[in-house]
Amino acid sequence: MNSAQYDSSIQIQSHAPGYWPNVTPEKWNDHKWQLRNRINSLVELEKHIELSREERSGILLSGNKLAMSITPHFMNLVDRTDPNCPIRRQIIPRVEETLDDPMELTDPCGEDSHMPVPGLVHRYPDRVLFLVTDRCASYCRYCTRSRVVSGVGEQQLETQYEAAFEYLERTPSVRDVLLSGGDPLLFTDAKLDRILTRLRQIPHIQFVRIGSRIPIFLPQRITPELCNMLKKHHPLFISVHTNHPKELTSEVQEGLIRLAEAGIPMGNQSVLLKGVNDDVETQRALVHKLLMCRVKPYYLYQCDLIKGSSHLRTSVQKGLDIIEGLRGHTTGYAIPQYVIDGPGGGGKIPLNPNYIVEHTDNHVTLRNYENKKFTYPEPQPLEVFQ
Ligand code: SF4
Repeated sequence: MNSAQYDSSIQIQSHAPGYWPNVTPEKWNDHKWQLRNRINSLVELEKHIELSREERSGILLSGNKLAMSITPHFMNLVDRTDPNCPIRRQIIPRVEETLDDPMELTDPCGEDSHMPVPGLVHRYPDRVLFLVTDRCASYCRYCTRSRVVSGVGEQQLETQYEAAFEYLERTPSVRDVLLSGGDPLLFTDAKLDRILTRLRQIPHIQFVRIGSRIPIFLPQRITPELCNMLKKHHPLFISVHTNHPKELTSEVQEGLIRLAEAGIPMGNQSVLLKGVNDDVETQRALVHKLLMCRVKPYYLYQCDLIKGSSHLRTSVQKGLDIIEGLRGHTTGYAIPQYVIDGPGGGGKIPLNPNYIVEHTDNHVTLRNYENKKFTYPEPQPLEVFQ
């Protein structure tokens, strides 16, 4: 795929109706229609695109691991003929998912061993991850929680809401709750409102975040009613998940701007994926478009050691090269922090290109983005009286 075509100066395009030429705008813009018409099987997918041998086998073998499900909206971004299309690689299973790498882990972030009650991960002193659902609008083939997400794998998510709320009530050290899963924005407005209201009744919880890929997979869900409900629960932040500039269509941009206008600060978490976004040009186009959608690029994750992800993982050097290609070359707000989630539960560890050339007691010599060297003196004691 030629990354030049993702230049961020292009207009954000709408892709409707694409593979669904006869659908009415009313149906297309109804998120319930989108969910009812998701592509969940090989037969349905083959009505739309020609699959490669790797994809056909992958779909047939994915049934008891992580389900396939693609919203019509996201499906419309798929290139009909190119099996290396960066959108296809994210959501259509491939046979490489069955390859066994001994370094891969079922629970790469070590979440299951940090659950004081089922569904609530408490690893850091002041914040928790609340897994409120195992369902998403579409399923990403590299999902960190593929062990539970989609409900077809070996493990089931068993969230105990009441026990989780009671744990939070009696744990005053927790000031920050991240709702995730699965995708919390799949809930009805009323159900999400009840969860947020209950959390807001706990005085020591200062800050609530929602992690969601719905604005990208199903922008029709970002209704004015949803935004009006969410804005009752400030300070509320949303972390969205976008990996490729093609994902930022006009429908997505509209939804994101609606959330921004409800006063919700948004950051993007993207995963570095081989053949999807592991080059500077694609990342530059992505981060520029995100700013145009009022989303701050927040984290760029090295892909976790998820089982069956070897074909999507790329080298750490590529990640460092991307940051090197952004820092100094574009707006600081556009640059995400590159991180590796320490395998087995180490938390996010930041990675940066090395800009320090020499560091002594007296000075530090640095290089800038153009590889020019600069020296900054360390503070030295000065005599008041000579
Ligand atoms: S949207 Fe998030 S939780 Fe759902 S499959 Fe994708 S990465 Fe996993």
